[in-house]
Amino acid sequence: MKKIIIIGAGASGVYLSILLKQKLEYQCEIIVLEQNASPLKKLLATGNGRCNLSNKDMSVDYFSTDQKDYVQDIIDQFDMLKQMNELGLYCVYQGNLLYPKSEQALSVKQVMMNCANELGVSFFYNQEVISIEQSKRYLVHTTHQTYQADYVIFAMGSEAGKLSGVNNSRYDILKKLKLDVVKSTPSLVQMTTLPVIKEWKGVRVKGTFSLLENNQCIHK
Ligand SMILES: Cc1cc2nc3c(=O)[nH]c(=O)nc-3n(C[C@H](O)[C@H](O)[C@H](O)COP(=O)(O)OP(=O)(O)OC[C@H]3O[C@@H](n4cnc5c(N)ncnc54)[C@H](O)[C@@H]3O)c2cc1C
Repeated sequence: MKKIIIIGAGASGVYLSILLKQKLEYQCEIIVLEQNASPLKKLLATGNGRCNLSNKDMSVDYFSTDQKDYVQDIIDQFDMLKQMNELGLYCVYQGNLLYPKSEQALSVKQVMMNCANELGVSFFYNQEVISIEQSKRYLVHTTHQTYQADYVIFAMGSEAGKLSGVNNSRYDILKKLKLDVVKSTPSLVQMTTLPVIKEWKGVRVKGTFSLLENNQCIHK
């Protein structure tokens, strides 16, 4: 039986563990190593806690990638509504945006974790991976112990929102293994104001914003 280690229990790592188990069943043992004390921390914060799962308006132009065909294939083939239904999560479109019917990110977490646990995926928390050695098998060293694996999958996310830790180890590990690292670019960012207007935090508004320079509107 092949042993697969997935590093990171974010949306990518947890969902991938489900897909692999569904496809490979008993041919593989899957272990997910997570540095936080619990999984899917960032997912809980998404869509203002409601988890905006997808968008009808999908275009390859919205992605920063040099592999446009690959991204296009994923957009064409992947139906989020259907996939989530199959996991037991009922979703609805509000305009172009897809949300869980419960409108709570917590239910997305519960459905994904139930599914992964039922399929026999093992999760280990408080396990920050700090280095990986490549010998006959991979030796994955965490702050606490060493795990062996036939395959290692990186699903360590990014520093966005600082919800999955601000550590440089994710990039160092990849560089030490001589893997190419594509520089990440922010795509959707928080707006900051001076002075800080606390009442606006987390408020979503459909409106028009104008960027002024010397009282001249330079962008709208
Ligand atoms: C405030 C906010 C709101 C958002 N809203 C939406 C939304 O509504 N809809 C949407 O589609 N997207 C949204 N996003 C983006 C979305 O959350 C991310 O694209 C998604 O969570 C990325 O998942 P991931 O699994 O790739 O990475 P992450 O969720 O970052 O997970 C990576 C995991 O790897 C772990 N990890 C990292 N390094 C190590 C290590 N060395 N050892 C062990 N574990 C490690 C981290 O702790 C983390 O748990 C939002 C993001 C933010 C910040």
